[in-house]
Amino acid sequence: MIVRKTAAELEKMRRSGLLVWQILQKLKELSAEGVTTLDLEHAAEKMMADAGAKPAFKGYYVPAAGEAFKFVLCTSVNEEIVHGMPNAQRVLKKGDIVSIDTGVKLDGYYGDSAITVPIGEISEQTKKLLQVTQESLELAIDRVRSGNRLFDVCSTVEQHVKSNGFSIVREYVGHGIGTQLHEDPQVPNYVDRKNENPRLKPGMVLAVEPMVNAGRPEAKVLKDKWTAVAKDGSYSAHFEHCVAVTKDGPWVLTRQ
Ligand code: MG
Ligand code: MG
Repeated sequence: MIVRKTAAELEKMRRSGLLVWQILQKLKELSAEGVTTLDLEHAAEKMMADAGAKPAFKGYYVPAAGEAFKFVLCTSVNEEIVHGMPNAQRVLKKGDIVSIDTGVKLDGYYGDSAITVPIGEISEQTKKLLQVTQESLELAIDRVRSGNRLFDVCSTVEQHVKSNGFSIVREYVGHGIGTQLHEDPQVPNYVDRKNENPRLKPGMVLAVEPMVNAGRPEAKVLKDKWTAVAKDGSYSAHFEHCVAVTKDGPWVLTRQ
């Protein structure tokens, strides 16, 4: 069931969204050669505590992993797609890309967003990967409009990514969001004809999150039970925003 939010609820989600945005802006500034992914975790954890927010990911139980996630961030470097764990040994170096995904709960409502940050000079191919992934998100955001259908959003990501020669990860998808981190509907980055194709209505909020591989689409999970990587070792990018359907068009809750 897709829960539609009232104007007052959307205002609460806006507050969580803006906090997530502020945290990601700060982490983007901090991401540099020599910094570890655990340094990023500590900075984010402090910002959440200072704001009186609860981390959305830390303590989140995932049946497939058989345990709860232990960090406030997912930090996924290079061929890691999503769910990478911050680590004091993971020192960022020139040419890396780090995807930082985080969420908070504030006043009962969640915000969730992700960016992929280049460290120093990166290859032309990797620049294109980041650009195309980000563009696919922007194009999809513009389809989050009352009267459109879910597949309009999904197919927009898929077409932009494929026409640029990159691959859509199929194992992980976007989602509705509100008082739960993951609500209906699922928001795949491709058209999944086995799923329903609901019409979008004011008050729905979608977390749209393209995960794009430079090489083949297949993913596998490492022995740590969490980190999803591109099977062929190619680099992977991830961007995410929470977008509300309003009568005036898409409202991106997770940026200023
Ligand atoms: Mg998400
Ligand atoms: Mg996320």
